[in-house]
Amino acid sequence: MLRFTGLDQQYPDKRPAKERRKDFDEIYAPFSAKAGADQAERCSQCGVPFCQSGCPLHNDIPDWLMLAAEGRMQEAWERSSATSTMPEICGRICPQDRLCEGACVIEQSGHGAVTIGAVETHITETAWKEGWITPIRPKRDTGFSVGVVGAGPAGLAAAERLREQGHSVTIYDRYDRAGGLLVYGIPNFKLDKAVVTRRTERLEKSGVVFKLNTELGRDVSLEELRARHDAVFLAIGTYKAHQLTCPGGGSAGLVPAMEYLTASNRRGFDETPEGFASGRLNAKDRRVIVIGGGDTAMDCVRTAIRQGASAVTCLYRRDRANMPGSAREVAHAEEEGVVFEWLSAPVAVLGDAQTVRGVRVQRMMLGTADASGRRRPMAIAGSESDMPADLVIAALGYEPEDVDSLTAGGGPVLTPRGTVRVTERCRTSLPGVYAGGDIVRGASLVVWAIKDGQDAAAVIHADLMARIAAEHAPELEPAE
Ligand SMILES: Cc1cc2nc3c(=O)[nH]c(=O)nc-3n(C[C@H](O)[C@H](O)[C@H](O)COP(=O)(O)OP(=O)(O)OC[C@H]3O[C@@H](n4cnc5c(N)ncnc54)[C@H](O)[C@@H]3O)c2cc1C
Ligand code: SF4
Repeated sequence: MLRFTGLDQQYPDKRPAKERRKDFDEIYAPFSAKAGADQAERCSQCGVPFCQSGCPLHNDIPDWLMLAAEGRMQEAWERSSATSTMPEICGRICPQDRLCEGACVIEQSGHGAVTIGAVETHITETAWKEGWITPIRPKRDTGFSVGVVGAGPAGLAAAERLREQGHSVTIYDRYDRAGGLLVYGIPNFKLDKAVVTRRTERLEKSGVVFKLNTELGRDVSLEELRARHDAVFLAIGTYKAHQLTCPGGGSAGLVPAMEYLTASNRRGFDETPEGFASGRLNAKDRRVIVIGGGDTAMDCVRTAIRQGASAVTCLYRRDRANMPGSAREVAHAEEEGVVFEWLSAPVAVLGDAQTVRGVRVQRMMLGTADASGRRRPMAIAGSESDMPADLVIAALGYEPEDVDSLTAGGGPVLTPRGTVRVTERCRTSLPGVYAGGDIVRGASLVVWAIKDGQDAAAVIHADLMARIAAEHAPELEPAE
């Protein structure tokens, strides 16, 4: 260990931008066994591991790095999977520069962080290859049944941990495939869909029942679910897109990011969604403008490049240093040919009610920091110009759908933001109803959704066990 002074930081080989622009395959090759062990060996084995504090799951990073460096891969995988239900997914798509690797002491000392995410992926990919990951066979069946609404990372993580404890689990989702944003939001070039399917198939083989094409509020009510199950976990994410409020923002020609990405991800399953066939959701040979600076915007610009757009521009009202998306993703996008117009805000979408033909853009400057800690953009008078485009995509973030109407007014107490209010232990205001993931935090990250799912499973299990204990407690004689 401690080889960080003599061995340079190395990420897995990244395919050349020219090549990866042409397909949707993942951009990184896997680590070889030697490269994985070498990079793990750079860890300084800190007594107080800041990387672990930087990881929402508090993964035992130094331990599994040491085991991987020593070639004890099965033990490394056991250690890693003890705190995470999807290490190979987090290893691929966590913004490590803002989490574990950003906190790594070696990074702070200027040597370049241990490539934690890549080693994490390498460990679990080895486990899949070696056949160490098998269906869950609980030691006993508790006889309790838990309903999970939402098959995204929060719901899947909860289902896995609950099944391990011996509970029956049924997952309901309105989509036709399980995975939530892992399947229909995040593109293949960041996360191959086979990686997600492998996880959901394992859950199915473990006895978890998936009821897909089943929507809470349409096909089933919360009341019915509470009657059917001993506990219900709500993990329905946030899907109401923020609207562009400038003139033209209501044009039917303006494409919402999720509609665009979902169609592209469906293409990856060899489907041809209607909007794609009509050309509305296909960037081929078109000049594309994406409005926004988060992860969703980065996924849209990079998807448009792969669909064969003639030009792709990202408009963002702050500068590079103040954008919410991962710096690594921006670098990938630039390599692939995306043009970033920093400090540029849309003031009008040009065109008519049905079609768009461009965006009127105003230049901005940055003022003092706002509540989010980022500097507030301010318009520069007289700086407007028109930017032509054939496809304009709005990627401005998400908020929860109306939970009150999904639950016919019989749902849990909400926050003023419309997210579900929970105690620090994932319990909602309704007995036996728990919640986690984006529907509690607002649009967040996969790793936080996994944490919420795992935490909720632990609380649900404890509450169900307490119920048994209460039922079997001997009646105490009242004191004289
Ligand atoms: C385009 C995009 C890219 C992203 N990239 C990254 C990234 O690179 N790294 C990262 O860490 N995070 C990323 N995120 C954020 C991350 O995907 C989310 O934080 C995470 O998926 C939230 O998990 P969840 O389980 O709470 O919700 P979701 O993944 O949204 O899953 C919710 C599930 O609930 C279902 N559902 C919703 N309503 C109902 C209903 N009424 N009845 C039944 N089912 C319902 C949905 O169909 C869905 O399957 C990205 C988000 C987007 C939109
Ligand atoms: S889960 Fe994410 S933050 Fe935690 S160690 Fe893995 S990549 Fe880093």
